[in-house]
Amino acid sequence: MATATSASPRPSHHGVTVWFTGLPSAGKTTVANLVGERLAERGRPVEVLDGDVVRAHLSRGLGFSKEDRDENIRRIGYVAGLLTGHGVTVLVSAISPYRAVRDEVRAAVERVGGFVEVHVATDLATCRARDVKGLYARQARGELAGLTGVDDPYEPPLAPELVLDTADEPPEASATQVLTLLEPLTPSTPAPPGGGRGAPATIGGRGAPPTIGGRGAPPTTGGWAPNREGSRRPEAARPAVHSPHPHSSHSPQPHSPDPHGGRLIERLVPEDQVEELAAEAARLPAVALDGRGLADLECLAVGAFSPLTGFLGAADHTAVVERGRLADGRVWTLPVALAVPAEVLASGPDRLALTDPAGVVLATVDIEEVHDPDPATEAKLVFETDDPAHPGVAATLARPGPLVGGPVHVLRLPATPAELGPRLTPAQVRAEAAARGWRTMAGFQTRNPVHRAHEYLHKVALEHVDGLLLHPLVGQTKDDDVPATLRMACYRVLLEGYYPPDRVLLSAFPAAMRYAGPREAVFHALVRKNYGCTHLIVGRDHAGVGSYYGTYAAQEAFDAYDPGELGITPLKYEHAFFCRRCGAMATSRTCPHPSETRVHLSGTAVRELLAGGQLPPPEFSRPEVASLLADGYRAQRG
Ligand SMILES: [Zn+2]
Repeated sequence: MATATSASPRPSHHGVTVWFTGLPSAGKTTVANLVGERLAERGRPVEVLDGDVVRAHLSRGLGFSKEDRDENIRRIGYVAGLLTGHGVTVLVSAISPYRAVRDEVRAAVERVGGFVEVHVATDLATCRARDVKGLYARQARGELAGLTGVDDPYEPPLAPELVLDTADEPPEASATQVLTLLEPLTPSTPAPPGGGRGAPATIGGRGAPPTIGGRGAPPTTGGWAPNREGSRRPEAARPAVHSPHPHSSHSPQPHSPDPHGGRLIERLVPEDQVEELAAEAARLPAVALDGRGLADLECLAVGAFSPLTGFLGAADHTAVVERGRLADGRVWTLPVALAVPAEVLASGPDRLALTDPAGVVLATVDIEEVHDPDPATEAKLVFETDDPAHPGVAATLARPGPLVGGPVHVLRLPATPAELGPRLTPAQVRAEAAARGWRTMAGFQTRNPVHRAHEYLHKVALEHVDGLLLHPLVGQTKDDDVPATLRMACYRVLLEGYYPPDRVLLSAFPAAMRYAGPREAVFHALVRKNYGCTHLIVGRDHAGVGSYYGTYAAQEAFDAYDPGELGITPLKYEHAFFCRRCGAMATSRTCPHPSETRVHLSGTAVRELLAGGQLPPPEFSRPEVASLLADGYRAQRG
């Protein structure tokens, strides 16, 4: 879909709908108009759909019953979808009091582009004081009934991409927040002549207009869909490209490995229990999760950590640390622990609320046990070193208090940057693999930028398995690792240019790095089995850091377990490189030539090249990837 000269990870022709919802006089239209003006100044095709204006045209005759209100929103959503499919940024300002129809519109628009929900959550007292249209006064005088927020319901979004409170914030500042959120979604350059990005909005015009409600024009695999920030439910698997695998006609029921422990354990509470649990959580002592805690919570919520239901209690924790197994003997190599400051536990609570750093409640945890194992002993056993310079050891030694063990009940997933793209749950990856007819799927874990050596390993694996799950880790990493958003962008351009789209699935992996080398390699395999992988590519020094682990230690770690109890097969690969004599990518298993014929660059060497304004050679890195990295490096330093 991108031209050869385009290395941009940004959507090249999908638009986005920004849906402002909130009470009358909350400030929706004011902010939407400001955002519209600023986008128009940047040459961006933009359209504002104001609920009142639409009512006067599209929806004349509709009243204010729930049915009529929903119908009005469906009509606005239909138009928004048409425009979005044509690359327009659509700013919808409508009270839209009912959650279900908003979610319905979201699902329809997301088939053709992006959707961003902005809850303008200005409090009722402020709205009443503003009363821009005199509605509150009329309601108070008994001239008007069914005013949203007063005598008619308003159902706030459970997981909006953005919440604005315009009570104390000037409209300009609110608009800036929206524009910042949109930055990765909207190219800032004007549309070039002849269409392409930012094609003019034409309803029912040339080409096949996207349809809403049915299957829209399917996005190409490299196509870009914004992920929901703070989404309760992760974005569903994109339709992508469903070309059935040649074998699928012979095997209509593709095999997926059983999840670890037999079934997926998801910990998101059902939709109808969210409000009640949220109300309870508001009364509990709260703990703000750090980056790793957020990542662990998301992995627990979506089933990536099956069979765990929550944070480990004492018996499991000890067994994992000492033997690499849960207390019942199942393989589990890394502790999943929740450390809580002692003062939070002083009152002896039986539950805690878990929040993000901004204080948004994400989950509750039942306190079944409080235990306090010695961090130094644990670090030595898990990381095979007690060197505080090791990031995993440092995190273990720095924990703020004793450990709480018990199951979690997750209300919503942590907020994530939209530009990471989709993060499919294990169930969604399994469904997608099944839809594509894959009987075998190799997972690829990485926290580093993707170079040709990785591409070679992917393609060697693809000669053997039906599908490849590219699963870059996007949870917390060391500060000097390349940011996840940039790594994901590199993957997107690489896939666009060099991979068969129907055989590859790219999805962000929400876990955090622990840098536990061999133990983490086995852990990564078990978790990928939960995502439906039959194989995991394990390179040299997988999940290592510095020189704490032997080159082959991660690969050898699998030998300590019976293959049946792991249920996933490691593909143990050597480092790959381009050999000038072979004229091809190779490894030491396939190339007999001396090292000086091989193009190999360390991560440090690559960083030095980029810092000096140079790109790594094409034998090392695809030019599209290299230029993205160079841009990212400049942005970071500038
Ligand atoms: Zn060679």
